[in-house]
Amino acid sequence: MTIPNSLAKEFRSFLGQDGVFTEKADLLAYAYDSAVLEESVPAAVLAPSDRESLGKAVALCYRAGLPITVRGSGTNLSGATLPEPGDSAVILTGRLNRILEINPRDLYAVVEPGVVTARFAEAAAAQGLFYPPDPGSQEVSTLGGNVALNAGGLRGLKYGVTKDYLMGLEFFDHEGELVKTGSRTVKCVTGYNLAGLMLASEGTLGVFSTLILKLLPPPRASKAMLAVYPRFTQAAEAVSEIIAARILPCTLEFMDMMCIRAVEGFFRIGLPVEAGAILLAEVDGGSREGVEEDARAVASICRRCGASEVREARDQAEKAKIWEARRNALPSLARLRPTTVLEDATVPRSRLPEMVEAIAALAARHRLEVGVFGHAGDGNLHPTILCDRRDAEEFARVEAMVDGIFEAALGLQGTLSGEHGIGVAKAKWMEKETNRATVEFSKRLRRALDPKLLFNPGKMFV
Ligand SMILES: Cc1cc2nc3c(=O)[nH]c(=O)nc-3n(C[C@H](O)[C@H](O)[C@H](O)COP(=O)(O)OP(=O)(O)OC[C@H]3O[C@@H](n4cnc5c(N)ncnc54)[C@H](O)[C@@H]3O)c2cc1C
Repeated sequence: MTIPNSLAKEFRSFLGQDGVFTEKADLLAYAYDSAVLEESVPAAVLAPSDRESLGKAVALCYRAGLPITVRGSGTNLSGATLPEPGDSAVILTGRLNRILEINPRDLYAVVEPGVVTARFAEAAAAQGLFYPPDPGSQEVSTLGGNVALNAGGLRGLKYGVTKDYLMGLEFFDHEGELVKTGSRTVKCVTGYNLAGLMLASEGTLGVFSTLILKLLPPPRASKAMLAVYPRFTQAAEAVSEIIAARILPCTLEFMDMMCIRAVEGFFRIGLPVEAGAILLAEVDGGSREGVEEDARAVASICRRCGASEVREARDQAEKAKIWEARRNALPSLARLRPTTVLEDATVPRSRLPEMVEAIAALAARHRLEVGVFGHAGDGNLHPTILCDRRDAEEFARVEAMVDGIFEAALGLQGTLSGEHGIGVAKAKWMEKETNRATVEFSKRLRRALDPKLLFNPGKMFV
């Protein structure tokens, strides 16, 4: 599919020659994202380099009846940036990557949506400030993508997720009109909380052009440790016990034996390959004494729950190694088989041991290799199924297991997605977690803001 020359010319009049792609070879690069789904090729890819031309691109797409999929870095795992096949446009935000303001007095920053998450955190740190949301993809993901999916990260347990840092934003509606919501102030109740509406909207309600994000003073001290467990369920029990003891680590992550072996196989960082699971914890705070006290308490709970060993990081280098292990879990698993299907079902923390057992039972029933890691402190697991999509029989078992994971999570009063969103992949499950009225209400809201249903069609609701 291709757009008419006259329309391409009109786009080029404000996006420039290098801001409009219509050649098949270029379009193919935007026909997929990080989810394991069929590719879908758009008719045009538009790359505005300033906010004004972003608004014009949105307005012209809408007028011309082109479905619009906005794309940050395409790292989402739910098909949320798969374009509508045929006559559709992908709008890239990568060139909208300016940090417009970092305000150390009032603890906020104003950014364009294409700023890469880790670059923003570094820029804040350079001014002695802290931006906590740190998705595993932070070296690549954009802040716009983080807001549109309400991304979490390793520090979610204590510091929350993207929603806790979104103070306001500006976005273009379907006519390319700029809508403003929120402010640079700590408090703001001026009108509807449109920022809340836009959060996790997956590009279905409007296109963000500017974000106002909250910053914090950084913690003064921190301490990381790694606890080794013979069995995965013991690590899950330790998580519940730590929280029940009223200690709030900033990070509490775990990895099962398959993940430990995959990471160690590739990175040789000295992980215990005979362990059933490891729990990775970090406590932080305003004083060294307080942090030491919390660290001792966490280590003691870990031992009480069956840890055969608790390794405390003695310095920055050892701490970095602990987190390197966790951040390499997915890339290491992904090297083992051609396809990795990563899920993010989430349950109330106290139900973690049951969820862990349910995943193991499903893996055995469907005869699949599954590595499990995740944000244990948030009850957010990432069961990762290793398979080969080209093997139809095996992939049918994978799909059955994914359905089983959702059934199990909902049965434990959990949710379909802790952080990866719904996209295409989980749309058919929306009604099961909510109800018909919720889906219909959401669809009415969407139609009111997008009468031609051109903003990221096919996502969230079927
Ligand atoms: C290795 C790996 C690790 C990951 N770890 C985590 C993790 O720890 N936590 C987590 O939450 N996620 C994680 N993810 C998922 C993903 O990285 C995040 O969801 C991230 O927020 C997506 O950012 P992105 O820039 O790639 O967005 P994209 O994938 O490009 O887009 C995501 C959604 O945002 C919309 N969007 C993007 N920009 C705009 C805009 N300007 N206006 C309106 N809508 C917009 C898109 O249309 C789409 O619906 C991981 C992914 C990978 C591959």
